Parts: sequence; C-alpha cells; structure tokens
Amino acid sequence: MLKNDQLEQWDRENFFHPSTHLAEFARGNLPHRVVTGGQGCHIEDRDGNRLLDAFAGLYCVNVGYGRQEIAEAIADQARELAYYHAYVGHGTEASITLAKMVLDRAPDHMSKVYFGLSGSDANETNVKLIWYYNNILGRPEKKKIISRWRGYHGSGLMTGSLTGLELFHKKFDLPLAQVVHTEAPYYFRRADTDQTEAQFVAHCVAELEALIEREGADTIAAFIGEPVLGTGGIVPPPAGYWPAIQAVLDKHDILLVADEVVTGFGRLGTMFGSDHYGMKPDLITIAKGLTSAYAPLSGSIVGDKMWKVLEQGTDENGPIGHGWTYSAHPIGAAAGVANLKLIDALNLVQNAGETGAYLNKVMAEAVGHHANVGEVRGEGMLCAVEFVQDRGSRTFFDASEKVGYRIAAALLEQGVIGRAMPQGDILGFAPPFCLTTSEAEEIADKTARAVASVL
Ligand code: PLP
Repeated sequence: MLKNDQLEQWDRENFFHPSTHLAEFARGNLPHRVVTGGQGCHIEDRDGNRLLDAFAGLYCVNVGYGRQEIAEAIADQARELAYYHAYVGHGTEASITLAKMVLDRAPDHMSKVYFGLSGSDANETNVKLIWYYNNILGRPEKKKIISRWRGYHGSGLMTGSLTGLELFHKKFDLPLAQVVHTEAPYYFRRADTDQTEAQFVAHCVAELEALIEREGADTIAAFIGEPVLGTGGIVPPPAGYWPAIQAVLDKHDILLVADEVVTGFGRLGTMFGSDHYGMKPDLITIAKGLTSAYAPLSGSIVGDKMWKVLEQGTDENGPIGHGWTYSAHPIGAAAGVANLKLIDALNLVQNAGETGAYLNKVMAEAVGHHANVGEVRGEGMLCAVEFVQDRGSRTFFDASEKVGYRIAAALLEQGVIGRAMPQGDILGFAPPFCLTTSEAEEIADKTARAVASVL
C-alpha cells in the first residue's frame, strides 16, 4: 500500500478536483481525504476516521453504503457482459428491466426513459428533445428555457446556464442566450418581511408572467425546476407554488421539466417530487437515486405528449441524432435494478419520509432557538439550517465571514458531515434513507454544539 504522504503528494500534484479552490488545495490549505470504505450512513478514511455522512455523498447514496446486493449485481453484470451499446434497438436484460421499473414508478402520463450518465447530461438531453419537439411542430422560434435563480441543473454549457448560481457562470461566459432566469420560490430570503406565503407565491407568478410577456410566449419552450431547490439552499416551495406555476405554463403552452435528480426515487417520502407537489411534468430528470450512485446512470423520462411528436419526427427525419456511447450502460443498469429492488424491499421511501420528518423535528428543537438561526426547514430526508446575523430584521452575514463553512468544519470535527451550501449561510443535510432515529439525534446534537462553538 502506498504511504499516506506519498498519496497526498500525488493528489496535490496531479489530481484536478471538481468544484475546488485549486490554488488553496495546491498550497495545502484544503483537506486531502482518502475515503476507503463505507457502511450504512458512515464512511471511513485512510486515517482511521469513521464519519456519519449526513449528506449521502452528494445527496446520492440513498440506500446507504456497503450494500452487497448492488455490488453483486454489478459484479455479475461485469462478468457476463460489461458493455454493449443501446443504439438501434440493442439492450440488455438489465437496461430493459430498469426502463420498465422506472416507468412503473413514474407518474402515469410518462411514456419512455432515455438513459444517460449524469444529471448534467440528462438535462442536456432534455433541452435537445425540447428543441427537436418544437422544430417538428413547426415553431422553430419557441426555444428559450426559463430556469430559476438558485436552481441547480448541472455544470455543462447548457446545464451550467440553467443553473442559477453565479459561481457556475462567472468567467465561463455563461449563461447562454437561450436561457432566462426568474424568481426563486425562496420565501425566507426573497419575501418582504410583511409578505404572507400566498402573497409571495403571487409575486413569483407575477414575475414569471412578466418575463413571458417581455420575451414573448412564442419564444419560450420550457420551464425547468427542482421540486425542492437543492444546491441553491434546500428550499421547499411555499404552499401552492407549483400548481400556480403549472397554470401559467399551461396557459402559454410552455413545457415543464421536473429536475428530480435529488428528489427522484424517494427523498421526499414519495417516489417522485412531482407526485408530492402535484406537478405535471413533460420531462423528468433522474440520476443520483436511480442507482444510489453505485454506478453512474441518469435518465430523461419523457411524457406522452412529447413522445408522440418525437416518434413523428423520426418518420420525417430519420433516426434521432442523439446518443452517448454509454447510454444505458449495462453495469449502471444492473446497479439501478438492484437499487430499486432494495428500496422496495426495505421500505426506504417510507423511511425517508418518516425519519426525515424526525430529523427536521429534532434539528429544529436543537438549534431553532439560537439567535443566529433564521430558519430550520426541510421536506422528507432533506433538512437545512439557515444562519442570520439578526433574526428579527433578517440581516444576513457578510459572505466573507464564511459562517456556513465554519459551522460545517466544526461539525466535521465531531465526526459528522453536513454541507455548507454555496451562496448563503446554509448548512444542508441529506442523509441516506436508512438513517435511524438515533443517528438523526446525533446529527442534531452535534450541529447544536457546532453552532454554539462558532456563533
Ligand atoms: N440536477 C440537480 C437537481 C442536481 O442536484 C444535480 C447535481 O447535484 C444535477 C442536476 C447535475 O447532476 P450531475 O452532477 O450528475 O451532472
């Protein structure tokens, strides 16, 4: 085995880490951690630390670490057939079975699933399908996509544009011109202090209407949104938000893409967030929870309305010019089948709802009274604590104080991984669905200690 300091040197010299302050990492001011194993909600590292991962990796290891059933399914598939492509009618038992399992769980009006590799490429696929759809319908000018500030949809060229976080645009010449952003349904930060939730929803709707009016409905193809804003701060929408948005979209013949990369397959305590909030999407993006990250796999679930037009398009134009070498990769598909079976067998969607509600409750009890805690919020197995300088006037900390990061670091010192969400002083939690009530209590207690040590 390589010596630890040798590995660290190689890491700092050779490895380009994503979403990392490169210069600080090279200087040795950011941690280098070699993760070696995982079991249930815990990971282990090479220095012998055992950490409670209250963010399930990047909210993706939904069934927890160390699931032998999934590992076996991957190994069996690799031994039998590691790869064959899915072009022109080819498939494997795993990919065909997984497509059926996904459709069985999706809202009734969904028709087919296209498999990719990551949430980002699935959203790139969605935009291409939307453009193709409007071209087939003879309205080539209807192409713009509306996204929300603080939405997260990936970091490719189009998906980085859809993402409504400045960090993902800055110095990359994004967003692309076809993307326009609208208000985030972020009541705590965006509403006036005297505004009710209903008034704030009306404001979000008015902003959307004004944007559509300004751009022209005949130029707008689709609206994309996460049922619950994730990376932008873990923000469940105010009551009535989605039905009100859906009504505007229907009125203007604008498609809806539900980006369920985080919420798909149970994180909110229902199979899909679309069911949870009464959305009627034309496309659903899936990734993380599809395989619980045991292998990379994503998907675009296509609704009936679009599917009919896509089929018609190929009659007019020949095969659809969109495919990845690794679409429906057999190993990812085998992981997906085993993962969805495990979610059913262990009742993990129900546990995500129930233990997630318990986590939110104990977190509110542990830190909600603190003068610098503005809000504890969540839905299902998602929870966030937002810190403020002054609760009454909702005065926020200066970003340079890095309060969220300091609290996440203090929590990590106690052996619990939470995530300082980019932009804003928010500590996020998205544990695996197998979280126990005692683990939920441990997360809340240690968060309270971390908050008290920093603020
Ligand atoms: N959409 C949402 C809602 C996400 O949270 C993410 C990633 O966190 C993505 C898309 C992009 O997925 P990936 O990182 O697999 O490309």
